[in-house]
Amino acid sequence: MKIHEYQAKAIMAKYGIAVPKGGVASTPAEARQIAESLGGRAVVKAQVHAGGRGKAGGVKVVSSAQEAEQVAARLLGSNLVTHQTGPEGVPVRKVLVEETAAIAKELYLSLTVDAASRGAVVIASEAGGMEIEEVAARSPEKIMRLAPHPVLGLYAFQARKVAYALNLKPELVRPAGDLLMNLQRLFVENDCSLVEINPLVITQDNRLVALDGKINFDDDADFRHKEWEQLRDPEQEDPLERQAATFGVNYVRLDGDVGCLVNGAGLAMATMDMVGEVGARPANFLDVGGGADDEKIKQAFGIILGDPRVKKVLVNVFGGILRCDAVARGVIAACKETGKNPQIIVRLLGTNADEGRKILRESGLKVDLVDTLHEAAAKLR
Ligand code: GDP
Ligand code: MN
Repeated sequence: MKIHEYQAKAIMAKYGIAVPKGGVASTPAEARQIAESLGGRAVVKAQVHAGGRGKAGGVKVVSSAQEAEQVAARLLGSNLVTHQTGPEGVPVRKVLVEETAAIAKELYLSLTVDAASRGAVVIASEAGGMEIEEVAARSPEKIMRLAPHPVLGLYAFQARKVAYALNLKPELVRPAGDLLMNLQRLFVENDCSLVEINPLVITQDNRLVALDGKINFDDDADFRHKEWEQLRDPEQEDPLERQAATFGVNYVRLDGDVGCLVNGAGLAMATMDMVGEVGARPANFLDVGGGADDEKIKQAFGIILGDPRVKKVLVNVFGGILRCDAVARGVIAACKETGKNPQIIVRLLGTNADEGRKILRESGLKVDLVDTLHEAAAKLR
């Protein structure tokens, strides 16, 4: 789950991390008032669940409250398209209006989960700012990675090691170490999958300030974080993913055009690999789960058909508790309800597979029934 910058900064401030003074506005008049209270000069920032706002015109330094109002009027109600959003962009409903910082240097600092080492990892660079992706691609040696202890967390000496790697002036080494210790505590206590400060700036008067803040929470921990519900902004989420979540279907939207309906996460991953191997691109990951019935299959298939990018659909089901006749009925019901019937390639094995195939064959839909993954792959080429 993602949250907005202004929410992330409020959490960071609670952990003793310095953030600029300011407030969040939903109307141009509010933006003007906040800028006035800051003395006129301010930075106005679109609040969306996507990075790359600076390059997309979503971050503007203004020199008067009137200008803050104008920029807010332009941003609020618009859709911001950044390199991290789809072509349709994401709606801007709030702007953050903050005091400007006199920047001496922009650093990068984050903590995330590293699947390979099965733990948290600190990522830091003295080359922070909007070009961090290019730095990572072209000069990886400028990016340092360090793993906190999985149980004991970050040691103070490790935090200082990161601070030294950032080439800080001696008087900033201790504050930077403290900041990182606080950030690591925030990361663990809030069950985050990512906390990122980019840029973490050194101001001209030699202070460390989080000029940007990003926090993602690990959805699997939502049962013990009642406070997340108030932080959620469904408007920023992909509508199909939101719909899938309400149906209890594991669905992740991707950017290809082959919709995939599979049971079991492992089989779903293998199916996506197979789609990729023949040169096609999956439109989604979708695991309907073990005991899905007709209704759940219909909902899951409806989500796939709801994606306008989908040109073909691959159904790959190994029936166990999930019965293949239920899959067949669910697929047919979704096609009827949506009035859509793209090319559907179906491989059904296991419980009631023959019955499922018969139902599909007699449905009048365009369906390619195949027996093996190889045959399915051939249809995708
Ligand atoms: P992002 O592009 O979505 O990551 O948005 P950021 O919050 O990181 O802002 C992008 C860039 O705007 C930063 O890297 C800074 O260079 C610049 N910026 C943001 N706030 C200020 C500010 O208060 N003063 C100045 N001079 N630049 C700022
Ligand atoms: Mn940023």
